Amino acid sequence: MASTDLISVDDALAHILSHATPVTRTQAVPLTECLGRVLAEHKYVPSDVPPADNSAVDGYAVLHSCVVAGRALTVSDRVPAGTAPKPLQPGTAVRIFTGSEIPQGADAVVMQEQVERTGDDVLILTEVSQGQNIRKQGQDLSQGDLALARGVRIRPQEMGLLASMGMHQIPVLEKLRVAVLSTGDELVEPGTPLNPGQIYNTNRFTLMGLLAEAGCEVVLCETLKDTREATRNKLEQAAANSDLVITSGGVSVGEEDHVRVVLEEAGNLSLWRMAIKPGKPLAFGAINGTPVLGLPGNPVSVLVAFMVICMPFIRKCQGRTDAAPVGDYLPAGFEVTSPSTRREFVRARKDGSGAGASVLAFSNQNSGVLSSTCWAAGLAVVPEHTTIQPGDPVAYYSFTDLLS
Ligand code: AMP
Ligand code: MG
Repeated sequence: MASTDLISVDDALAHILSHATPVTRTQAVPLTECLGRVLAEHKYVPSDVPPADNSAVDGYAVLHSCVVAGRALTVSDRVPAGTAPKPLQPGTAVRIFTGSEIPQGADAVVMQEQVERTGDDVLILTEVSQGQNIRKQGQDLSQGDLALARGVRIRPQEMGLLASMGMHQIPVLEKLRVAVLSTGDELVEPGTPLNPGQIYNTNRFTLMGLLAEAGCEVVLCETLKDTREATRNKLEQAAANSDLVITSGGVSVGEEDHVRVVLEEAGNLSLWRMAIKPGKPLAFGAINGTPVLGLPGNPVSVLVAFMVICMPFIRKCQGRTDAAPVGDYLPAGFEVTSPSTRREFVRARKDGSGAGASVLAFSNQNSGVLSSTCWAAGLAVVPEHTTIQPGDPVAYYSFTDLLS
């Protein structure tokens, strides 16, 4: 098949995404366990956060119009954080602390560093303006506002925000249930000595890690023999028990490559072979209505295809509505002299900072060299039909962003 028969990365993504059905099953999880989960409902603010005006500093609460230069005020009360204040007696000051609620009748707080305290008197040494050092009720979240939208993946800061509203059981979408099938008669599991002709099953572990980072549940993880029958049986079993099947290997043109053929025979194959480097022989289809992403066998292709193709599909299936990662444009610290008809994802990392930052590429970009991905911190994108000279801007995506 000529390279012109390859489907472009953009067309492939559009096709695959058009077959992504968001999960609708929901569950409630304790706040302590909701990290990485996808919010199932809009969350509106039940009551203002903070619930009352409070002090931003340790100092003295006053009514600013009662402060006269050179005239001390009597300290009439003391409000530690966590206590309910009494109203301010007119013409006095109240000792107050960071986070303490502002007494009714006070409208400013003077930092303790800006007063002279003598017994029960306090002399204010600066000008005082209305509202100074007061955190207003509702300044963070105002009652009735939308705090978090359905479809947001919960990060530590969202956990904190949910807690600040007093929420402790969080409605989330169920995790996407993914089956992982490795194919290849040459594969053995780590822990077993290698016989001639064998290699360790690498992709299984890469995929398990990738799926964990992506917030998916791996419901089945098996290695298949390279036979039509085993491939068909396992694919059908995996499809019946998951929302998505991801396979590695067996999607090329050799007679030992059965995944693509079984998809054609037992389900449907709607896409095969993309103009991407690495990762060309990627297959997409379905078995009994369950989508199947057939990744290539080469370990680097698995990682790249997962981040570039599977992640957008997974995000949509997870019901996520938050923004996909946006790349940075940085000067290339490498060159690509022969333009390719395929979009190339170069294992790369940033070097330097600020105006001097650039993107370096690992010296060996072969798709069997998995160590390139351990050296790298992300992917640089070389568009189709493009050469790159050192200093040319290239798009760079960090692995962290690609998996977030
Ligand atoms: P295939 O597409 O099945 O011909 O696989 C392409 C290349 O990837 C071959 O060199 C395989 O040995 C290798 N490969 C396939 N699956 C795995 C795996 N799970 N772990 C490591 N290498 C693999
Ligand atoms: Mg194989």
